[in-house]
Amino acid sequence: MSQIDEIKNLINIEDLVGETVKLRRTGKNYIGFCPFHANTRTPSFVVFPESGTWRCFGQCAEGGDVFSYLMKRDNLDFQQALAVLAQRAGVKLESFTREDSSRKQTEESLHQLIEDSIAFYHNLLMQSPAGKTALAYLHGRGLQDETIRQFQLGYAPDSWNAVIDHLLSLNYSRTQLIDTGMASEQRDDKGDPVADGRIYDRFRNRVMIPIRNAAGKAIGFGARILDPNDVPKFLNSPQTVLFDKGATLFGFNFAKSAIRERSQAVIVEGYFDVITLHQAGFPNTVSSMGTAIGANQVKLLTRQSKNIVLALDADEAGANATLKGIEVLRDAIRQEGRLDADIRVTTIPEGKDPDEIALRDPAEWQSILDNAKPIVIFMMETAARGQDLQDAKVKSQIAATVLPLIEEVSETIEREVYRQQLADFLSIDARLLRFDDPNKRTVKRRSSRFTAPETSVVVPKEKAVMDSMTAVSRREVFILNYMFHFYPTPGSIAKIDRTLRQRRLAPISRKDFESSEMRQIADCYFDSLDQDENPDIFTYADQNLPESIRPLYETAILPKPVVEMTQDDIEKEMLRSIVLLRRSKNRDRIREAQALQNDDPAEQKNHAELTEIFGQLLLEKKKLDHLLEALEFGNKKNNDD
Ligand SMILES: [Zn+2]
Repeated sequence: MSQIDEIKNLINIEDLVGETVKLRRTGKNYIGFCPFHANTRTPSFVVFPESGTWRCFGQCAEGGDVFSYLMKRDNLDFQQALAVLAQRAGVKLESFTREDSSRKQTEESLHQLIEDSIAFYHNLLMQSPAGKTALAYLHGRGLQDETIRQFQLGYAPDSWNAVIDHLLSLNYSRTQLIDTGMASEQRDDKGDPVADGRIYDRFRNRVMIPIRNAAGKAIGFGARILDPNDVPKFLNSPQTVLFDKGATLFGFNFAKSAIRERSQAVIVEGYFDVITLHQAGFPNTVSSMGTAIGANQVKLLTRQSKNIVLALDADEAGANATLKGIEVLRDAIRQEGRLDADIRVTTIPEGKDPDEIALRDPAEWQSILDNAKPIVIFMMETAARGQDLQDAKVKSQIAATVLPLIEEVSETIEREVYRQQLADFLSIDARLLRFDDPNKRTVKRRSSRFTAPETSVVVPKEKAVMDSMTAVSRREVFILNYMFHFYPTPGSIAKIDRTLRQRRLAPISRKDFESSEMRQIADCYFDSLDQDENPDIFTYADQNLPESIRPLYETAILPKPVVEMTQDDIEKEMLRSIVLLRRSKNRDRIREAQALQNDDPAEQKNHAELTEIFGQLLLEKKKLDHLLEALEFGNKKNNDD
């Protein structure tokens, strides 16, 4: 048994949940109000001690095991949850490999190096005569000393060696200074670093803004000029082992709990906007690192709240919306579906900055937030501003801008509603707004060579790992196995998603993987899709998979299936596996809901809710059955050819 399974067996899930949720026993199970969505009317959160799982039958429609529960409740990553539960269960975790622990140590000392730099700059700002101008600048922007201390703002003196001398005196090495981006290297004519060349302070005569990761660890700096003649206005630390710009949100470590409490995250553009808004009573504010909003950033936020408001500058989102503005929205809309977020957009009136507004009149900022609109509606209204809507040319122009965005919406119903709204907006027939659907064209496919039943696909080194798995977990392994080895392109995934959506089923997502270990591996896959360059999924998994997941990964995912498949086969098999997986889960859900009903026949209060739950589950079952039938039928036809 793996240590993870051992811990699952030792922890009583009802005790863990019972710490913060009032649970009522119903037969074998427990029921209470879901801690992850706002509800006070009907208890929809069920704990199943026998399987060690939990499930919200309400709004969240999500479930999992002790690990996912603790991760969600206390905002931990898997490794942290594992450590907490291992201690609680009295299980001594096998130590990590030497390589891994030495990497951790290296990173720890780099965090500490930046932490020491933060203290150095902060002291200069608050105490030295050289920092006076910088401090006056910050006061001039309306920042109070308490805020300056909270964010540990600092001052980098106008010197080529102030911080590097300080860090070297603390026994940090030259390499560490370069690796953290605190020192720049002398470069030759071609721009390559000179071996053992001079190194010098990257940040000179600037206001220093420490950047921290979600856990609050120091990872880099943003730095603003004090002399208006200097360029660039803002200089960030470079991308380093610690600082991944695409996965970082400035202010998030301070904003986390406020985002959860207010059930809303606000993304603004600048560091000072974040700092000032926190001071002005909007601590649920963060900013991205100047790039578009990435999936990893949205993911950080959706763990706290699904509701995200994007506050854009008026000029950027304005009437002749710039390409960058549209790209930001397109990225946002993609992630909205994938990460199940509700992203809204609001604009800041032209010529104004969020920090000015917040300092002058917090109520005005609140009303700007209250004005946020769903992305598509926002796009429509923006594209139409100042245009003559009677003009046919204008109509087709607006449709051409907005339709591609609507196509990115993952929910079929939502998409249709948007299409109808666009049609009403332009006073045209919604049918005119339909894209040609490539799936409806019939393509004669060559018959599939892949006929092996799916159980023969995975050949784990240790059969026992698979044997102890539930049917659902085994199916999850099959799908992950396909995803890793045949690596369906994002295009293939999109194709599969389209088929699912046509049947009003949710697209493939992380949510399809429910046991915590499997979810970690699936996260690896989806995260690697979000990387900039061509992702190498095995390397990515190597670097990012928690050590404790490796045994499962190596025995179940790494062995290559012994079948030959065409791209077409892969798509078909993945789709079929997803449907089968969801059917198994659907069956489990129905059984769980039945158990609840049988447990408590006298309890009539839940009756209406249960009926509704059954209705939804049965509807999903019908859709899945139909799709499966269509897939099997298609197969048979192919074989008869
Ligand atoms: Zn819930």
